[in-house]
Amino acid sequence: MKISVIGTGYVGLVTGTCLAETGNEVLCVDIDENKVKMMKQGEVPIYEPHLDVLFERNIKANRLNFSTNLKEGLDHGDVIFLALPTPEDEDGSADLKYILGVAEKIGNLMESYKVIVDKSTVPVGTSDKVKETISKKSKVDFDVVSNPEFLREGFAVDDFLKPERIVIGSSSQKAIDIMQKLYKPYVRSGNPIIIMDEKSAELTKYASNAFLATKITFMNEIANFCEKVGADVDKVRIGMGTDSRIGKRFLFPGIGYGGSCFPKDVKALHKSGLDSNYKFKILDSVIEVNHKQKTILIPRIKAFYDNDLKDKKFAVWGLAFKPETDDIREAPSLYIINQLLELGANVRVFDPEAMPNVKRKFGDKIEFSDNMYDALSNADALIICTEWSIFRTPDFKKVKQLLNQPVIFDGRNLYDTNDLVDNQIKYYSIGRP
Ligand code: NAD
Repeated sequence: MKISVIGTGYVGLVTGTCLAETGNEVLCVDIDENKVKMMKQGEVPIYEPHLDVLFERNIKANRLNFSTNLKEGLDHGDVIFLALPTPEDEDGSADLKYILGVAEKIGNLMESYKVIVDKSTVPVGTSDKVKETISKKSKVDFDVVSNPEFLREGFAVDDFLKPERIVIGSSSQKAIDIMQKLYKPYVRSGNPIIIMDEKSAELTKYASNAFLATKITFMNEIANFCEKVGADVDKVRIGMGTDSRIGKRFLFPGIGYGGSCFPKDVKALHKSGLDSNYKFKILDSVIEVNHKQKTILIPRIKAFYDNDLKDKKFAVWGLAFKPETDDIREAPSLYIINQLLELGANVRVFDPEAMPNVKRKFGDKIEFSDNMYDALSNADALIICTEWSIFRTPDFKKVKQLLNQPVIFDGRNLYDTNDLVDNQIKYYSIGRP
């Protein structure tokens, strides 16, 4: 099929590349000229494991092309994916200006039947708004489909090529048939394509993310309580997770969820509730607990240094909001670094992929190291914010030798506490003695 993808970020680029991989002719359109220039030169503008191989292969085969021109995108594709930002607005709602702005332009430019597929995460009723916006500008026949994306950054290619499920929300059988044909190669193992109405599809995405954010937050509260009563959250987690109704995943406590999705999606669902006279009390608590959790290490660090962090030097390992991505949107590391700087401390950081993005944010307010050990030299403590594999088995002797004082504040529970005792390193983690 001929496909256009409007918005070539983490979702759009993976979608475009993976759709080209099964033989479709894909044109990716983005408003960011630099990004399009990079992609035309064969450079992947984001870090996403395994994307580079598919990207290169499909460019070579001329199945994957790039443009800044929306009209070109509309002329090329029979199916037009919208993978545009839906950031948090001031009142917590999802800002639809990108989606509706492009919908208006589509209305002006569309010359033949198109299936407009919304892949962005949008509030219930957005499909109707998109239809209305396009219809106001165009007499041409079209359909709108809600097709929320469930890929995880860091596993995005695999998630797209082998999705656990695909959700298609549409009231048009013609559009549903086209979408089923397009997605057939991705569900050969029998995972379902679930067809529903647009509103239910839109809500499925928010409900999924809000549920996962709640699960993480629940475990963070259990971990905080473990600290009060002397229990070990790792043991509690394993004890709970073996119950198949609960499951083993998403039970790891830490310094809160971040990223480009959970924080804004939880708030947007909460705000949608209020707009419909429904108060999601549980989401109120999730938002509040997570906000506090992001900087839960700070009071511990302050207590360790008798409330005086002025001119202390901290090494931070991990900046991305989670491993295997360079995405730092809403990353707990940013909150921690900001508070350390406000308290007069110096910060030196290392992350395998996210340092360029953090550099754009902090400039020379913090130092950047080329490797994880360089970050430690003469630092007063190590703080761990992201659970990259590379941090899991460090040379503790080297760590102890490089730090001014052997202290680790671990926001991701990476180490066995006994290993730290053996190495005579003071160790503070989340929910463990
Ligand atoms: P992103 O910010 O990485 O990418 C958005 C892209 O859209 C950018 O490249 C931007 O330049 C481009 N853009 C903005 N305005 C445009 C316009 N008028 N015309 C063309 N391009 C334009 O965002 P993302 O992380 O890919 O997320 C996109 C949507 O998918 C959001 O709604 C998000 O909630 C949802 N989502 C994201 C993920 C994820 O893991 N990132 C997963 C599932 C769903």
